[in-house]
Amino acid sequence: QPRAQLDAVDTVCPYCGVGCALTYYVDRVRGGISFAEGRDQPGNKGRLCVKGRYGWDYAASPQRLTTPLIRVDSAYPKGPLSADVRADSQLDGFAKRGRGRRPGGLVPYEEVLPHFREATWDEALDLVAERLGGIYAESGSAGIAGFGSAKCSNEEAYLFQKLIRTAFRSNNVDHCTRLCHASSVAALFEGVGSGAVSTTYGDIANADVAIITGSNATANHPVASSFFKQARRNGTKIIYVDPRAGTVADHADIFCQLKPGTDVALYNGIMHEVIRLGLVDRDFIAERTTNYERLAETVAAYPPELAAQITGIDAETIREVARVWGGAGAGVIYWGMGISQHTTGTDNARCLIAMCSITGNVGRPGTGLHPLRGQNNVQGASDAGLIPMFYPNYQPAGDEKSRVLFEEAWGTDLNPENGLTVTEIIASVLDGGVRGMYMLGENPFMSDPNINKVRKALSQMDFLVVQDIFLTETAEFADVILPASSYLEKDGTYTNTDRRVQLGHKVFDPPGAARVDWEIVQDLAQRLGLDWDYASPREVFEEMVPLMPDYANLDYDNLGSTGKLYPNPDPDGSDGTVVLFDERFNTADGLAHLVPAEWLPGKELPSEEYPLVLNTGRLLEHWHTGSMTRRSFALDSIAPRAEAYVSPEDAAELGLADGDFARVESRRGEIVLNVKVSHREVKGNIFIPFHFREAAANLLTIDEIDPTGKIPEFKFCAVRMAPA
Ligand code: SF4
Repeated sequence: QPRAQLDAVDTVCPYCGVGCALTYYVDRVRGGISFAEGRDQPGNKGRLCVKGRYGWDYAASPQRLTTPLIRVDSAYPKGPLSADVRADSQLDGFAKRGRGRRPGGLVPYEEVLPHFREATWDEALDLVAERLGGIYAESGSAGIAGFGSAKCSNEEAYLFQKLIRTAFRSNNVDHCTRLCHASSVAALFEGVGSGAVSTTYGDIANADVAIITGSNATANHPVASSFFKQARRNGTKIIYVDPRAGTVADHADIFCQLKPGTDVALYNGIMHEVIRLGLVDRDFIAERTTNYERLAETVAAYPPELAAQITGIDAETIREVARVWGGAGAGVIYWGMGISQHTTGTDNARCLIAMCSITGNVGRPGTGLHPLRGQNNVQGASDAGLIPMFYPNYQPAGDEKSRVLFEEAWGTDLNPENGLTVTEIIASVLDGGVRGMYMLGENPFMSDPNINKVRKALSQMDFLVVQDIFLTETAEFADVILPASSYLEKDGTYTNTDRRVQLGHKVFDPPGAARVDWEIVQDLAQRLGLDWDYASPREVFEEMVPLMPDYANLDYDNLGSTGKLYPNPDPDGSDGTVVLFDERFNTADGLAHLVPAEWLPGKELPSEEYPLVLNTGRLLEHWHTGSMTRRSFALDSIAPRAEAYVSPEDAAELGLADGDFARVESRRGEIVLNVKVSHREVKGNIFIPFHFREAAANLLTIDEIDPTGKIPEFKFCAVRMAPA
């Protein structure tokens, strides 16, 4: 169809935290989307990556769930129900091995569906209300938990946490931020009093130097990385720090390929040298920070020679980074999950906050702190209170003033105790604490660490309801499955990594009897006795904003087609505030709190038996547990199979060539998958993406967590590898 005859609908890409604004051109005659185009929003300037441009067809997959399902067999423990996962059972009745040879790798519907029967919405929701209500009556708030989703809109995230907190008086409500940037948020709250970014990724254009660390940005935040590369062409110096030579390294002025898990030693070494050379900003330290002396004392013990020994980066390079960083007029740091997904994730982020603060690199254009958020709405879901320790806008659940505010707003008593996090909820299920769960759009069977433990927990739960658009691996354990909506089927707001709040518009109706998520949550709330009567996401947003000072002045009508940054004192006249903390930080005393950190080794070091370090993450073409992108024709065609990325040296030593099958084993399990020999890996380290059910990387990972951010160690465990 010519463009003029197509229906143009503006919305937001559903994948990464960049949250690109895009327009779908919809053929209403033949049905379906003809093509997608990026819009000229400040954060993407019309650009889209391959996922945004081609990755939307999963929403039209014939595998969409279209009717509620109720489990018919009462076998205990439950699931997984599909043979390919059950076949190699070695541990507690569950699979200890995955096999990359099986094509497709999605849940085999034909094996799983016979264990369920179709139901009406009334029947399914009545059952959910009866069973979760019953567990709450027996076990109290400790017996119930909810996992929400960063794929949902702000309004859906807000309603989901409100439901768990009010219907079950439980703060056990969390989402995938716990697996993503929880440690960064913990460090930022402690250090600067706010978990959001202090500047945008586009602000790199104003920086003399940018450190990009622990981020394979080209794969994970592709459009943001195009801003980085453009800035480099315009004269910004790029210092790239990562154990893998991601393609940003090709554009870097200095590339520090450090040993995995040695970030604290590196940044302490750099700060040691910055201080020794007198490159600190003394006025900024004196007027705007606290605890500098203790920080200086700690980093004094990390001369570049020691940092070099720990990190594997030569001392002269560390000195050079210190000179470039300390000598810059404006420096900014962008970081990804290579920083956050460690048992030392909070310490890693503390070092980055200190790096910026001692050099006065916060609060001016081209300076600041930016954890690149993972999912397109992980910032918004966190803002909306989908985390156990905070009500909306990070108002502490354990603080009486905050609690009273929300008790008055919601008209009910609330639980004064902090709730459990994602990782703690799984442990609680195994201990008999949490017995019933409402899972909206999460797939912990694939996404959580050491998934045999997760499988065991899911199988022991008294009642599990899963709300999703596909039959996910986690849904195999469900008692009730509720067919939900994709982003194409609803209106709502989404907040990207830059703090940009954007409107997404509905393109199609949900298929079959599937329903919009916020309506399902409201229907359940009413069955649980709550007096909810929202007519639209707009009404929910109107309730949220007065409770969320950061979102002040925003409303559906002033977001426009490109959204607005928060905070925004004048949304009718301005795009919002790019640079935060120009005068004071959000901490109680207005100062940046410098928190020194000592380097600690990983929790599971390589040994003779398991000599390699495993790093896990994402590919450009796929998204998280693969439920969406593996059903996208273009994306799955480009990257159809699980591969282990291995250095040429390790491949030669192990007798492996590109395309061979290899077995990768840790102390927790083993998988078989193809080998990809890659010069971007360094000897001793391998990388496996976690998208592939048939070779699930999280069968191998450890479930150790960061003591503060409670984030798991996805980036470091010991494995061995051999031809399969
Ligand atoms: Fe979507 Fe992220 Fe790609 Fe933009 S960069 S199109 S938000 S996946």
